[in-house]
Amino acid sequence: MIRGELSPAGTAMLFQLLRDGRPRTRAELSAETGLARSTVAERIDTLLSSGLLKFSDKANSTGGRPPTMFAFNPAARVVLAADIGATHAKLAVTDLAGEVLVQQDKVVDIADGPEVVLREVCERGRALLTQAGRDECDLLGVGIGLPGPVEHLSGKPTNPPIMPGWDGFDVPDFVRGELGAVTLVDNDVNIMALGEYRSHWSEYAHMIFVKIATGIGSGLISYGQLHRGSQGAAGDMGHVRVPYDTDVLCRCGNVGCLEAVASGAAIAAKLTEAGVPATNSADVVSLARNGSVPALQHIRQAGRDIGEVLAMAVSLFNPSVLAVGGALSLAGEHLIAGVREAVYQRSLPLATQNLRIVQSRSGDEAGVHGVAFMVIDHALAPSQVEALLSL
Ligand SMILES: [Zn+2]
Repeated sequence: MIRGELSPAGTAMLFQLLRDGRPRTRAELSAETGLARSTVAERIDTLLSSGLLKFSDKANSTGGRPPTMFAFNPAARVVLAADIGATHAKLAVTDLAGEVLVQQDKVVDIADGPEVVLREVCERGRALLTQAGRDECDLLGVGIGLPGPVEHLSGKPTNPPIMPGWDGFDVPDFVRGELGAVTLVDNDVNIMALGEYRSHWSEYAHMIFVKIATGIGSGLISYGQLHRGSQGAAGDMGHVRVPYDTDVLCRCGNVGCLEAVASGAAIAAKLTEAGVPATNSADVVSLARNGSVPALQHIRQAGRDIGEVLAMAVSLFNPSVLAVGGALSLAGEHLIAGVREAVYQRSLPLATQNLRIVQSRSGDEAGVHGVAFMVIDHALAPSQVEALLSL
């Protein structure tokens, strides 16, 4: 096919309309796009032959021969999504609507370095594709979430503290070499934010997602899209200073960082010091569930500290939803109550009158879903669809 035959205002525009999943007739598509019927027919043929569109039998006919309807075909291609953490990875093959077809958890050690970890992930990914009855040729793209800062445009980790050997490693290039597909990379908090948003809150335009675990970070959704900032560092709130005097030293070298006083690791350290042994977020959650008063007090205070910092973010950003996720969020209402207390107290009424402060609904599935949506949104954007069709 000659690329020039495709008008950017034609095929891609038509396809974007149909991505909502609602089947439409040629007449409806012509009315909605303003394109001539003959042009619509031509564009539909292109999309049908690519597999991105399918005939739909959902026509509501009032009698006579029902008009032919067309709908987005989520089964046209698949996405391999990998949410890689410090000690384990979640892998999934999804369709183009982000529905998980098959998935698997895998033990990994991020400290083994990029080549070992990514090769294992690719191998496991190939096996999952086979399990789903697909192969590498069906891949629309691959998405990777990593537990450290990533420059999203290049897909390279940048000084990741718990990932020896990964600094500056060209993750997309390596994965493309293994699987032959376009690869996108982002940090774990951004992909969790995207997954939580698209799965549960997409009727709202603006959201802040906070991950509270060993560290603390947030992902910002603005007008339905991730706001990454100029280097991909937006939302890194763990190293904002808490608004009171403390001499607690943070792993970043500064004093009084939010992460150093309110993360799962920080609470575990405080509890251990007080004679209640705990080493990580899971221990803290377990103590809280068993009614440990010191654990509950520390969790509530952590919620308040996080809320103080979030109150500033709420004033600057005015989100509709503030979702709290990460391992410590499993401690439940005590953490959220502390966050609410501080945010509502410190923000002006206009910023909070419709603000919902909620526990993440996706739990530990948020990341892998977010990775899939990141790839789908990129690869099915108008300019990319034009390129896909000209292959
Ligand atoms: Zn710090």
